[in-house]
Amino acid sequence: MSSVLVHYHEVALKRGNRPYFVRLLRQNLATSVSDLGLLGIKHLSARLLVLLEEAARPEEIYRRLQGVFGVANFSLVEKCPLDLEVLKAKIINALDGRPFSSFRVQTKRSDKTFPLTSPEISREVGGCIKARSGARVDLKNADLTVSIEILPDGAFFSFEKIAGPGGLPVGASGRVVSLISGGIDSPVAAYRMMQRGCRLTFVHFHSVPYLDKTSQAKTRDLVKQLTRHQFASRLYLAPFGEIQRQIVAAVQRPLRVVLYRRMMMRIAESIARKEKASALVTGESLAQVASQTLANLAVIEEAASMPILRPLVGMDKLEIIDQARRIGTLEISIIPDQDCCQLFVPRHPATKAKISDVQQAESHLDIPALTQLGVDNVEVEEFKFPPPARACPA
Ligand code: ATP
Ligand code: MG
Repeated sequence: MSSVLVHYHEVALKRGNRPYFVRLLRQNLATSVSDLGLLGIKHLSARLLVLLEEAARPEEIYRRLQGVFGVANFSLVEKCPLDLEVLKAKIINALDGRPFSSFRVQTKRSDKTFPLTSPEISREVGGCIKARSGARVDLKNADLTVSIEILPDGAFFSFEKIAGPGGLPVGASGRVVSLISGGIDSPVAAYRMMQRGCRLTFVHFHSVPYLDKTSQAKTRDLVKQLTRHQFASRLYLAPFGEIQRQIVAAVQRPLRVVLYRRMMMRIAESIARKEKASALVTGESLAQVASQTLANLAVIEEAASMPILRPLVGMDKLEIIDQARRIGTLEISIIPDQDCCQLFVPRHPATKAKISDVQQAESHLDIPALTQLGVDNVEVEEFKFPPPARACPA
């Protein structure tokens, strides 16, 4: 059996809500490893112990847990009875064949009935390792860190602590609708909202048949990648070409991009109400492109009555690209595609759209009918992680 001791971000968890957060985290952990021979999850004094069949490969366990928001760090641990001599023997045994020339021992004791204090346990175990291995103690730059946790349930030790993604368990902050293009920014925005505990429903606007289907294929791959963190996703694919055609026929060039965006907000908001979501999320970043000036963001926002969350608003492009690379979306986003926003786009879009001009332009359009057109023709796709074919029957 493999046991993984998971630490969560306690400080982030408000006192009264803690049981709720921990329950969510536990559910999410269980789903993330549901196809790796999950035997159970135990709650042990501010930690969760995930028990898996021995067959699970450690690298795969690590990959999964590194995707579960709310996890501060985790370690593959070995359990032994609350007995110092047994603990020493087990550690020596587990270190057999492991090369290291320096080491340190760190102990946390949450079971205060254990007769030795944490520093005493570290000293005892450290002395034993030193005598057996000949390695020196180095508290700052050790080759090997032996971590010991004394819990009421038993003593646990590990040789490796792996950082989790932090944040809050997905589900803790409610549902939001994420406007996702095939680009670099919106998947990063989605990731950051999931990290804050949101569950996302995705909406993608495409211009098939005016443009090809690459943006849809990329978006599917992006949603698939992001679903590793929330385990189930719904993607709405909304046809936008006809709406753009009508905007082009009625509105002068510079205002078109802002009008496209306003239509996207209206359609996304209508989907959000159906999904019982309480905000919209975009990958907009202040002044990154002409359509994202402060003036334009305000005009875009005016079209929706729901809050629009823009987690990237203060990030620069290099920071966003860096994060996209780390979360595994960059390689999908950079595949060339035909995005709907490139369709009928003016060379010089308005950088300071005025709400009065925009409203005047929209008065030539039947906005409720256009919104309905978008909503009525959506296609819905569902994504699951782990993929159902691989999941174990309950
Ligand atoms: P991204 O890389 O996310 O496409 P961008 O820098 O290309 O962003 P824009 O094309 O101006 O910026 O889009 C701004 C935001 O509007 C996007 O981050 C996304 O949230 C939303 N958006 C743009 N195009 C689409 C689309 N085709 N479907 C859904 N949302 C979109
Ligand atoms: Mg884009």
